This record gives sequence, C-alpha cells and structure tokens, in this order.
Amino acid sequence: MRASEAVETDSRVVCTTCYMCACRCGIRVHLDHGRPRFIDGNRAHPVNRGVVCAKGSAGIMHHESPARLRAPLKRVGDRGRDALVEISWEEALDIATRWLAEVRATDPKKLAFFTGRDQSQALTGFWAAQFGTPNYAAHGGFCSVNMAAAGMYTLGGSFWEFGEPDLEHARLFLMFGVAEDHDSNPLKLGLAAMKARGGRIVAINPVRTGYAAIADEWLPIRPGTDGLLVLALVHELLRGGRIDAPYLAECTDAGWLVVEAPGTAGDGLYARDPAGRPLCRDRRTGALLPADDPSAAPALRGAVSLPDGRRARPVFEILAERFLDPGFGPEAAAGPTGIPAATIRALAAELARAAFEAPPFLAEPWTDWRGRRHAGVEGRPVSIHAMRGISAHANGFQTCRAIHLLQLLLGAIDRPGAFRFKAPCPRPVPPGPLPCGKPGQVAPGRPMPGMPLGYPTGPEDLLVEPDGRPCRIDKAFSWEAPLAAHGLLHSVIGNAWRGDPYRIEVLFLYMANMAWNSAMATSETIAMLTDRDPATGGYRIPKIIYSDAFWSETVAYADLVLPDTTYLERWDALSLLDRPIGKADALCDSIRQPVLAPDRDVRPFQDVLIELGHRLGLPAFTREDGSPRYPGGYADYLVNHERAPGIGPLAGWRGADGTAVGKGPPNPRQLEAYVANGCFFEHRFPPGRRYMKPVNRDYLELAVELGMLSRAEPIFARLYCEPLQRFRLAARGHGALQPPEALRARIERYFDPLPFWYPSPELEADPEGAFPLAAVTQRPAAMYHSWGSHNAWLRQILGENRLCIARTTARALGIEDGDPVRVTSRHGSIRAIARLVEGVEPGTVWTWNAIGKRAGAWGLPAEAPEATRGFLLNHLIDERAPAGTDGGRLANADPITGQAAWYDLRVRVEQVAPGEPALAEPRLAPLPRPPGLPDPPPVLTWGAVFRGARR
Ligand code: SF4
Repeated sequence: MRASEAVETDSRVVCTTCYMCACRCGIRVHLDHGRPRFIDGNRAHPVNRGVVCAKGSAGIMHHESPARLRAPLKRVGDRGRDALVEISWEEALDIATRWLAEVRATDPKKLAFFTGRDQSQALTGFWAAQFGTPNYAAHGGFCSVNMAAAGMYTLGGSFWEFGEPDLEHARLFLMFGVAEDHDSNPLKLGLAAMKARGGRIVAINPVRTGYAAIADEWLPIRPGTDGLLVLALVHELLRGGRIDAPYLAECTDAGWLVVEAPGTAGDGLYARDPAGRPLCRDRRTGALLPADDPSAAPALRGAVSLPDGRRARPVFEILAERFLDPGFGPEAAAGPTGIPAATIRALAAELARAAFEAPPFLAEPWTDWRGRRHAGVEGRPVSIHAMRGISAHANGFQTCRAIHLLQLLLGAIDRPGAFRFKAPCPRPVPPGPLPCGKPGQVAPGRPMPGMPLGYPTGPEDLLVEPDGRPCRIDKAFSWEAPLAAHGLLHSVIGNAWRGDPYRIEVLFLYMANMAWNSAMATSETIAMLTDRDPATGGYRIPKIIYSDAFWSETVAYADLVLPDTTYLERWDALSLLDRPIGKADALCDSIRQPVLAPDRDVRPFQDVLIELGHRLGLPAFTREDGSPRYPGGYADYLVNHERAPGIGPLAGWRGADGTAVGKGPPNPRQLEAYVANGCFFEHRFPPGRRYMKPVNRDYLELAVELGMLSRAEPIFARLYCEPLQRFRLAARGHGALQPPEALRARIERYFDPLPFWYPSPELEADPEGAFPLAAVTQRPAAMYHSWGSHNAWLRQILGENRLCIARTTARALGIEDGDPVRVTSRHGSIRAIARLVEGVEPGTVWTWNAIGKRAGAWGLPAEAPEATRGFLLNHLIDERAPAGTDGGRLANADPITGQAAWYDLRVRVEQVAPGEPALAEPRLAPLPRPPGLPDPPPVLTWGAVFRGARR
C-alpha cells in the first residue's frame, strides 16, 4: 500500500515509530477527525516503554510545518539566487532518469549519492550498488563512524546502535560525551533506575549539560583528551592487578601470540598455524595450540619460540608492558586532561571496587563455546557509554578503542550491569562485508558485485587505483581513510569541486543539509556549489538532485528537488539490515506506517528511489519482462525483497503463514502483522542465551538460526587490532600494496594496533597558542540536527544559541553576559553573543548545535532570532586539516576512519569593536522562498482547530 492510499477516518489512535531523532521510539498518534491532536509513547514498545520526549510529542508541528515542500521543483536560474519552479512528478522523474542514465551508461562513479539522517540505508546503499557507483554513504562519517568502527574492530558491536549499558544492574556508570539524540529515552529510563537504586553516575564531558547535569560527579575534561584519561585508568588497573584475567583469557585475544620479528613482513601479526588459525601457548602444557581449540587454555604471559624460530609474545604481555609505563600514569594525564591525578586514581579504584567487590551473580545456567556448563553469570556492574565528543575528534577511533580496552580489562562486556550487545550483534571482528568499488568492480551499465561500504582488513581491501589514487570521490577506503566504514560525507563537495580525485556529473543528496549545518566550512561549501568552470561556463558540480521534506538551506542550491513526505506519511523500516531497534535480550525491528495522507504533491523518497531504479532498468528493481519488480513501492519492497534467500528487510512474521522469525520466505501479510502489533517486532531470547553472547554456544546457534550470524563460532574481542598492523607493515615497505610516499609516516604513526593517544592536528599546528580555546557544540535535548528550528513548539524552548564561556575565562577577556563577541579560528571569523556559565571547562567554549539558520530558509521570517542572533560554528571549521601536517592538505578528519574532526576546533574569543551590533555573523543574503510555500502564521493557534475555530 502506498502512503497516499492511507485513509483518514474518525478519531483514533495509530501506532508508528518516531523520527524526531535517532532514538526510534514507539509512538501513538492520536487523530481527531483526521488531524494529529497529540502524540504519546507506546508503553509496549521495547525502546521507550511509553516514554516520549519534547521532540517526539512536537512531531505534530513537524508535520504541520510551513516549511514543508509542496511539489517537485526545477531550477530556472542561478543556484542560491534565482527561482525554482514547480513541475510535475512525471517531468521530475524524467529529468532525474535522463541525468542518471547518462552517467550510468558511461561512468557510474560520476554519480555521488549521499544521504543524511537516512534511516533507510539498507535500501539506499543497495540502490547505489545496483546503480553501479561506489560513491555512496550516509552521514555517519560526520557523526559517529569513529565509535562504530572502533567497536566493530574491537568487540563486534558498538555503543548505541549495537550495544547498550545495563543500567538496571550497574553500580557505576561512566558517560563520555554523549549526544542526546542517540539512545535518548532508554538512557533516561536507565539513569532514573540507577538514581533510584543509589548507583553512581560519572559524566566525563567538557560541558555540564543534559544527562551530565544529573551526574553524581562531573569531570570537566579538555576536549579531545579522553584517551589519555582512559589509558591512565588502564595503567592504574594494571598496576594494581585489578583486572579480570580469566575473562581476558577466555573471551579475548589477550593470550594470542604476536610475532616479534622487526623488519620482516610478519612483524606484529598474530602467529598462526598453517591453516591460518591464531596460536596461543597453553598455560598447563606449554604447547602451542590454535586459540580457537576448545582444549586451549591461553597463557597471558611468557615469550615463546615459534617452530620457524621467530619469537612471539601474548597480546596481554605486550599491552601490559606498554601501559604500565609511567608515561601512561595519572600524573602524565593530569596536565593535558585537566583532571587531577588524585581524581584519576580514585576513579580507577572505584571502577575496580564496583566491578570486582561482591559482584552480583545471576543464576541463569548457560553453556560456553567449549561445551562447558556454567551455573550462572557473574555480573560486572560497571557500564560505560560514549558518543559524540569522543567520536568527532581526529583521535576518536583510538580513543574509543581505549574505552573498549578498559571495558575488556574489567570483563565488563555482555554481563549483568555492563555494556551489553544489542541484536544483531555481536558480529565477527571485524564484520563483513568488504567495501566494493575497486577498479574492475565499477563498469558502465552494470551493478557492482557488492555493497559500497564495509570493513577492510588490510591494504588489499582498499578501494584504490593501481597508482594508489582513491577510487571514491570522498576518498573513503583509500590510504587517506582506510577504515572509513561510513564514508566521508563531509569531503564530497570539496573533492568534487577540486576534481580530486576526479570530477563528478551528478550530486544526488537526500536529507543532507550540505549548504548549512552538515558541512564544515559552510560559506566555502556554498561557494563550491555555485562556482562555475571558466572553460565551460557551467557549474563545477554540474547537476544537483536533492530530496528533502522541508525547505532547508540546501534546497536553494539544487537543480532538481524531489519533495519527500514527513515520517507520518509513509512506510519505513528500522531493519536488521541497517540499524534496527535491537535490545540486549531480544531481536527487534520496527516499521513506520502512513498515519496521514499527504496533502501536498509529495512522495516518499524510498518510493521515488524504487521508481527511479525501475526507470533506469536496475536489475533488482526491474523484472525480466521490463515491468517494475516492486509496483507497490517501498511497502512492496519491504515485504518481498530478499537480500539473501529468506532474509529480508523485516525479521518478524516471515514465511507463508507468518510464523518464521528472522529467516523465511516473504509473507504477503507481514506489514499487517507489524501494524497489529504496534509497528514493532520483538523476539526475546530464552534464558541461557542472554549473556556472554560472544562465547555462549546456545546464543551463537540461535543467532545462526535467526539469520544474524552465518556460523556459530566464538567471537573473541580484539585488544590488539591486527588490521591496523597490516597497514603499518605496508607503510614500512612490505607487501605489494604500499601507501604513497607522502602518507607513509602518517600510516606508521596512527595505525598502532594498540590504542594510544595523540593530540589533534589543530593543536599541533598551533604551538604558540594563537587559538587558545577549544570550541565544541552540544545537541540540545529538544532539537535534532536542523530539524527543530522550524517547529513552532520546539522553537519556543530554544530560538537562538549563545556562545557559552566559563565566567572565569570571560572575566579575563573582559566579556560580560550578553556581549557580542568575535570568534576567530585559523579558518575564519564569526560574531556571536556570549553567555557566561559555570558548567564548562575553562579552556572550552561551546554552543548548541544547528540552531542558527540562514535567513529565509525553513519557513522562518528573515528576522527570526535563529537567523539574526543564532549562529553556526561550522563557518569556522576548515574541511581540510592544517597545512603542512601529514604531507599536505588532507581532510580534517580522523586519519584511520575519515571521521570529520569538527570537535577539534580551536578559537580565539575577543570583544568586538565598539559599535558592532549584538547580532550574529556572517549574515548571508536571505534565500528565495520556493513557490507555493505559505507564509508562516504570526501566531500559532493549533489547538483551536479542534474547537472548530480557524487557525
Ligand atoms: S527520544 Fe527521539 S525518537 Fe524518542 S520520542 Fe524523543 S524524538 Fe522521538
């Protein structure tokens, strides 16, 4: 059923899934004569258990926004200046098909297809592969790929999406950073449970807002130094012997042997048997055994001589040797982090006490992968959660690896009170697939043989030309960003404009506000979007197709606009093939259903993509007779698409009779079953399969049965990241594939298989301290990216942002509360308005993210506070790293994953010149309003509609 067929009836309650942030709560929309009167939470839903936040209940104003696009649009003049005109869907699809077909027939990689807060990546990524372009990603490279990749290369799961803290049983909870639109309501529920039980919450964050405001202890750390703090905690735990050695030996690679043969091609790799299985030394017999031999008891210490004469030592011994060095001690960390050594010591002691003293025991018998029966699971009531803050720094991958190392030393993984995997994780470390898009995998008129994104395991998996140049426009999976599992959305426009590594023909964006808050260096990005090639007179980025539901800043720069619906007007899936809503004790996924019929000439983007797939003749979207494979659009696709036999977008109610779970043939009544169950599916794991999942035989077998794993083999966590060492060996001159000369030193430095800390390139490039303050943003609890500021209810909570400065810092600068201030980075200068606060580390300034808006956009009056006093820090962030570091002008990003390093920003804050107004800068010219959009009402009287009055 298409969304447009949804019928409004009398007053009723309709369940669906919220899309007002990334948390994906179950909601109930109360309709009063076909109009949404209020939204509340679905008490049966596994994510939020009835809780709804301000954003979620304000979904009504999202749906009623005057900024909603009304019809397809085509440009008839210059980007950013001239008018867009309304066109029919037939014309819009015809134009898009023509542009895309030309590219596909000649060179598919000339299409760059990038999406933003896209919750349908299982479809959009698949579509890109079918089109044949490797140039696809969503916004994860800007958001949190450091966290995701570090987790996947260490644990086989990650914070938020594929793991959750067990706050019902934790005694101590450490929060590093944390964006409040990720795992939002579950965290609120968990924090409340912890508080009620007397558990301790420690917030490690330069800014004391949001969840940190209710923490028992706040550690105001300097931005980007968390890795040092964590490794000092590791040092203390190792020094005191306060670690879980049995867990390390059984569940991790701690006992696996690492070859020590400097100068050779095998140096630093695991010692392996002829079949390629990593080896360990049995601590009882001294024999060398494959680490996955059920009889092996890996020793954590002691060098061995391998049969070929090389020396090898266990990972744990190498690790302990490094981190016991006084250079990792609390005294060394105190200066850079700003956290006193005594506090670090006390926290380490508290971690050990909480983890090991009288640990709880859950009498739930289970069987391990060796077949040994256990009477229950011993708890490790220490939970850690991390998110933005850690992620958006150039050292974020290694910092997140350090956090996982800390968890592993404590044995605090998938046990009561600890971090727990959410289905479908744990997955193998690292999981597949490999990224696709090598030379030979991209050809005119053909799909690629794999998906564009994946997890490389060494140089041979990179997407590079024979001469080492990147294959992708964003340079993901090249020597500049080898483990770029989510791509580099933030580099696409700059690279395309420079023609580095090549020019593109079509830039196709979905929900990615690249002309404003999704770009670093916003003004320069706009200039690139409008720049013309002197040789041809045409734009350097020739064609831009954009799909969005709202009049965002990027609409003004598109040549063709495909208007999307709101989340209340379409089918959607939170799929196991993408980012489901899994829980630690259950496999879960969910859908959205059309609650309301669109009252505009708009279509769900997913329907449009499937239609374009058919018009382009992409095999997966076209039958052999040329007819569309999914004539019912996305709803049809959700039910009938099979990625592998029996595996489809939705795991629930599969099979002809709807009784199969996870795997089974398509069920034509599957969506009806989801709707009848409140739009979600939950399959709880039986007792004995809920904890210690990576080594729990019965869980692993169940995971295979449900289609979450392909083999029921133990999943060992990796303290030592061997793939990094493979890249390092290439940098040292080993192997057929080696990095370009300019990048050898960079690979050698950063690709350390053990976690380490390094200062940001921004800091290293400013030895004189010309920019003495760190500048970061924080997500307000009531807003999600740029989506809040057109929402009439949420705007009343936060209509403008200020630059928050510690009182002591402001006093030294002569700045008073409410003063306009000039904020200058190495890249540019803006004007903001100051707010003096207590809850910020004195060397840091911060502001709410994405509140400042371009005048004219989002249906706001040109003089709206968002456009006059609100400001955007992005104007100050260079999309490229400081000149001279790492061999040239590389992306301002983590060198391992390519994650945008926008939290590394350094600034100088000064009083403005006398007479400067208390208004934000830069003030760009107001954007022209697309045709057909109404004037926003000067006074909102939404409730009056239910009394029969006019709005
Ligand atoms: S936390 Fe996010 S998904 Fe949940 S109700 Fe709030 S806005 Fe919606």
